[in-house]
Amino acid sequence: MNHGGWWQYISQDERRKKATIDRALLARVYRYARPYLFDIFMVLVAITLRSLIMLLPPLVIRQLIDVTLPEGNAMQLNLLALALFAVPLLDGVLGVVQRHYNAIAGEGVIYDLRRETYAHLQRMSLRFFTSVKSGEIVSRFNSDVVGAQNAITGTIPNITTNLVTLVSTLAIMLTIEWRLTLLAIAVLPLFLLPARRVAVLLRKYRRQAMEHNGAMSSQVSETLSVNGAILVKSFAREPSELAKYDGLARDIRDIGIKQAQVGYIFWLGLGMAGAIGTAAIYLVGGHMVLQGIISIGTIVAFVAYLARLYGPLTSLSTVQTEFASAMVSFERMFEFLDLPVEIQASPNPAPLGQVAGHIRFERVSFEYGEPLVLEKGVVVEDNAAPVVVYKEGQQLTDITFEMTPGALVALVGPSGAGKTTITYLLPRFYDPTAGRITLDGVDLRDIDLHELERQIGMVTQETYLFHDTVRANLLYAKADATQEELEAACRAANIHEVIATLPKGYDTVVGERGFRLSGGEKQRIAIARVILKDPRILVLDEATAHLDTQSEALVQAALEPLFRGRTSLVIAHRLSTVLAADKILVIERGRIVEQGRHEELLALDGLYASLYHTQFRKEDERELAAV
Ligand code: ADP
Repeated sequence: MNHGGWWQYISQDERRKKATIDRALLARVYRYARPYLFDIFMVLVAITLRSLIMLLPPLVIRQLIDVTLPEGNAMQLNLLALALFAVPLLDGVLGVVQRHYNAIAGEGVIYDLRRETYAHLQRMSLRFFTSVKSGEIVSRFNSDVVGAQNAITGTIPNITTNLVTLVSTLAIMLTIEWRLTLLAIAVLPLFLLPARRVAVLLRKYRRQAMEHNGAMSSQVSETLSVNGAILVKSFAREPSELAKYDGLARDIRDIGIKQAQVGYIFWLGLGMAGAIGTAAIYLVGGHMVLQGIISIGTIVAFVAYLARLYGPLTSLSTVQTEFASAMVSFERMFEFLDLPVEIQASPNPAPLGQVAGHIRFERVSFEYGEPLVLEKGVVVEDNAAPVVVYKEGQQLTDITFEMTPGALVALVGPSGAGKTTITYLLPRFYDPTAGRITLDGVDLRDIDLHELERQIGMVTQETYLFHDTVRANLLYAKADATQEELEAACRAANIHEVIATLPKGYDTVVGERGFRLSGGEKQRIAIARVILKDPRILVLDEATAHLDTQSEALVQAALEPLFRGRTSLVIAHRLSTVLAADKILVIERGRIVEQGRHEELLALDGLYASLYHTQFRKEDERELAAV
């Protein structure tokens, strides 16, 4: 079998390329370490001093055995005993210094990396959030950040400690007795050969475990969540989910056992090799003592140094793997940081002043394009890489329309026509691929992004509430709102009564794992939130499907005051909305196929008319029935 390394199979060119990539990566990691160079320097100084002073005790013991005790020098005995106490004490103090600066550097690097990555991801367009699994993001923020931290606080000090200890110990051993040193070195292959092999194996197991863990946690988070559990139960998939989980958990168990096996066999081997070395030194050294070539103290000191020689060698033989895996963590974080910001904030935004809310879409086309694929994502072998399917072609073509200040524009059309996509362009969740959108005559791309976000209020189909109190969820729209303002907004949104009956009123925890509100109640909270925010522009997706007639009526009553005085773009599902609309845009396959007011469109007897008969009129009848 060929045990040659991978480097044998890659060409000179590739090898050079890999080396430069690695160098670029290192340079980048270094940039993060740069603010902490002083701290890192202090760590290295402490490490060096510790390694050097710990060379002293064997020398002291040699002196004790060879000179002090035979001579009966009590004074020197006291001094040497003091030295044997002082050295570990000093070592301890230096250890504190080392850990102190190590913590500052390590935590500092990680703080910078975390903050930068979070801020960067906040600026991503929706493409990022629709393409990347949230589990992947969480896992990078948790384990890779810690992995990167290990490089700074673990691997680098580790390498330094071991190198300094190794070199200094070897040097002092050579000066004490070079023949025994050569003997000690002769035993080294016994350590190094298995250590390299073990490092490769352990790396393989660690990667396998990581992949399986990733798959296992995404299964847990997908199937043991509210929606996931409902899905599993409703299709009676418990047995197959359990089987899948069981398979993964079993693999992880087996990998863990194999890892442990490799570990203890390795340590057993190391112990044996160490014992062989020690025995050989005692054997050969002992005979040298018998022949009067070296002193008893020398051999005792020598064996003490031996341990300081073999320990670092073992660590250094695995350090390469450790370093490589820490670098992978950095790479995975850097991959996030390298994602281009698609929604560029204007460098010198035009001042908006008082916003009237005049909006124009001018020949806007849009294409979602390919979803993002992270290169360094964990891919579980038997699951294979996900095949990316996306629809070619534009999702919006040549959309042109105008919304005068305060107007209500309704979007209607079959599902998948592009209505939601149009609403996404207004707050710049995406930018148009062609054409432009203006607010009060200014291209959206020339407006300060946060200023634009402040002008637009959104009520989407799915209302997302943070796992927090009702109050906190409302204050998200206006941090300094008073209780009166909160209540007024909730009354206007027809939700105050409901909140008042919650166990703790406005202080009831709702959201993810909190009190469950119905779809209609959540929507009304979303409406209250927008009322509090009081934006000039309103973007609304009227989802009615999951509302019963009563909450439907409540939502509708809440909406009417909301439209007043705002420029509103509404994906309409209610007859009352299309009737009230100043303009209805009928969207089909990404194009505006009809536009006008209700009666005009009905008279056309086209798509709108047929939608009216199938959708809106039914609504109409349902509402009439409810009254
Ligand atoms: P509507 O709101 O009218 O039901 P959408 O605006 O949601 O329609 O979708 C319009 C088209 O864009 C659909 O063909 C849909 O498949 C596609 N689409 C929606 N979201 C994405 C996305 N994130 N990536 C790629 N295509 C998408």
